[in-house]
Amino acid sequence: MNILVSGAGIAGLACALELGTRGHDVTVVEYARHLRLTGTPIDIRGDAIETAARMGLLAKIQKRRVRMSELTQFVDSQGEPVARIPMEQVSDSDDDIELLREDLVRILANALPDTAAIRFEDSIETLTDGDGDGGVDVRFASGRTGRYDLVIGADGQHSAVRRLVFGPEKDYLRHLGVYFALADHPGEAQSEGANSIYNVPSRMAGIFRYNGKAVAVFQFRSEPIDYDRHDLDAQKKILIDAFAGYRSWRIPELLDAARADPGFFLTSASQIHLPSWHRGRVALVGDAGYSPAYLSGRGTSLALTGARFLAEELERCGNDHTAAFARYEARQRPYVTFAQDRVDSGRDRMLPTTWAAIAARNKALQASGTGAP
Ligand SMILES: Cc1cc2nc3c(=O)[nH]c(=O)nc-3n(C[C@H](O)[C@H](O)[C@H](O)COP(=O)(O)OP(=O)(O)OC[C@H]3O[C@@H](n4cnc5c(N)ncnc54)[C@H](O)[C@@H]3O)c2cc1C
Repeated sequence: MNILVSGAGIAGLACALELGTRGHDVTVVEYARHLRLTGTPIDIRGDAIETAARMGLLAKIQKRRVRMSELTQFVDSQGEPVARIPMEQVSDSDDDIELLREDLVRILANALPDTAAIRFEDSIETLTDGDGDGGVDVRFASGRTGRYDLVIGADGQHSAVRRLVFGPEKDYLRHLGVYFALADHPGEAQSEGANSIYNVPSRMAGIFRYNGKAVAVFQFRSEPIDYDRHDLDAQKKILIDAFAGYRSWRIPELLDAARADPGFFLTSASQIHLPSWHRGRVALVGDAGYSPAYLSGRGTSLALTGARFLAEELERCGNDHTAAFARYEARQRPYVTFAQDRVDSGRDRMLPTTWAAIAARNKALQASGTGAP
């Protein structure tokens, strides 16, 4: 089949790999100029590990494994460790694999077969699904047009395919009351040491180090904020306003790193809940269809299993997309429900709302043994 995939993130690349190796002709359109390589380490868990093995990528992935969460500690305003991340509460098992998002993106992209190609700086502008007459007509932002047997929306939490086919984001997005921001911190890059997280009420600022690189990481609780996702300065201002009045530990220095970084990244912790992930010849995979929010630590695993189930079911159903999409959804839904149900403890541990709650969290972690500094 001639298949169009929107988005070259983990879900889009995994779809291109799984579909391309099964003989489909796959075109991936990505609106960025190149693969987007930012992001803190992500996790591959549970059956997504088997998916990576079936893709033939497990050895490469294992090689790039990092152990960042294990090296992360909560610190006080003097930078002294007060508690650790309790690994038994954040991982499913010792088999979980943590690796840099950029490494996984590269591993997937390098594994693409000749039948799959990525076209950068382009995106879907309109699509018309003539289900009965055998194809989806697509017009791209570049002015190109094309007809495809299937279209896969793997374009993330703010998916354009979802908007075009299922309607506005507000109908499906569930805000979890938290924002996450990330900035390079080149001044800190060469320094050694553990990863540090410092809390003030309803906020955390941290420094994470990996691969000779350091990043400033922030989370803060907030009601939904309306902003232009293409306006970098506006996004930086949201972060700076959220930390207004807080100058303890290294907060001012980390905010300066955010001000200076042209690759600054801000996102909300939001889930996508859709009653169905397919309509006609269009299906959604990854965050586009079922973002569990980064707080779950399971978005990447869902992207991998989703791509695999979709491709396997198309093969099993002899390219009968209606049957295949229904079977894909039936297999993937339990994983999504599980992941989306597991966000509250992460949020409460990371962002206690008062000084007293921060102290109580630290005390509980110290008492638990594995959370002691
Ligand atoms: C730059 C970046 C940094 C991230 N950092 C983290 C992190 O630190 N921690 C974490 O837990 N998760 C992070 N994530 C999210 C995480 O990668 C996903 O939750 C998970 O891997 C599922 O991936 P996905 O492919 O469904 O979505 P995404 O990883 O969001 O990928 C979607 C892709 O689609 C592209 N795209 C979006 N809209 C369009 C469009 N209209 N047309 C064409 N292409 C489009 C995007 O540029 C992106 O490449 C990050 C995602 C991105 C894109």
